[in-house]
Amino acid sequence: MVIIDAHMHLGSIPDGKKKWGNFREYKIISKKLGIEKYCVVPIGLPKNFTDKSTPDNDSVLKEAEKNKLIIPVYWFNVFDLPKEISEKYQAIKLHSDIGKVNISDKKVEKFVNKINLPVFVHTNEGKEYTNLGEVSNLAKKVDVPVIAVHSGSVTGTFFKLNNYDFPKNVYFETSGIQYSIILQKIYERFGAKKIIFGSDYPFGDPRVSLAMIDTLEASKKDYKLMTEGNIRSIFQLK
Ligand SMILES: [Zn+2]
Repeated sequence: MVIIDAHMHLGSIPDGKKKWGNFREYKIISKKLGIEKYCVVPIGLPKNFTDKSTPDNDSVLKEAEKNKLIIPVYWFNVFDLPKEISEKYQAIKLHSDIGKVNISDKKVEKFVNKINLPVFVHTNEGKEYTNLGEVSNLAKKVDVPVIAVHSGSVTGTFFKLNNYDFPKNVYFETSGIQYSIILQKIYERFGAKKIIFGSDYPFGDPRVSLAMIDTLEASKKDYKLMTEGNIRSIFQLK
């Protein structure tokens, strides 16, 4: 089986003296699961969120030079927008908790249109600036795939999903979803072609996200779309 992980972080989560997770561990887990490629963003450290600074994007490019399985993703921060980014990045990612910026903010829209690469956006339906309505608003104003990381995450997503309309360029990513019923509703409404497997390691785990997809009891064809086909088409990978 060939699987592509659409969302994972390079680095560990510091917690006192302990560091949780690391790339070496991820590579062991992912190899066992048949994960062939992974979209990698740097890790957002607590200080990035408190001082609105940008996580270490260079660490991802450095690692990508040694490891051809990595699809490098640039973490952009509207408080620290670069004039340009290296051509090696294949996508960009926004985490709106840095500065509580609306996903559909004009600055975000402008940057996404300028860079013109697929964009991953952290979502949490519990916060007005990161709900799926904001994803829809952004997606209507840009011409690239918009991937809702965590698919809204919390229970409220299940109830509010019907309130939104989504343009064709919106995709739903599987990490950090609180309850499987949320993913099941997304699957029923939008189908496998809109769902993308991601682990959010080291916060999440690819084994958890794959189990979430298992609850859909999807056909082999749908399973392949969600775990490989959709992200492959987005990046036009061979
Ligand atoms: Zn993440």
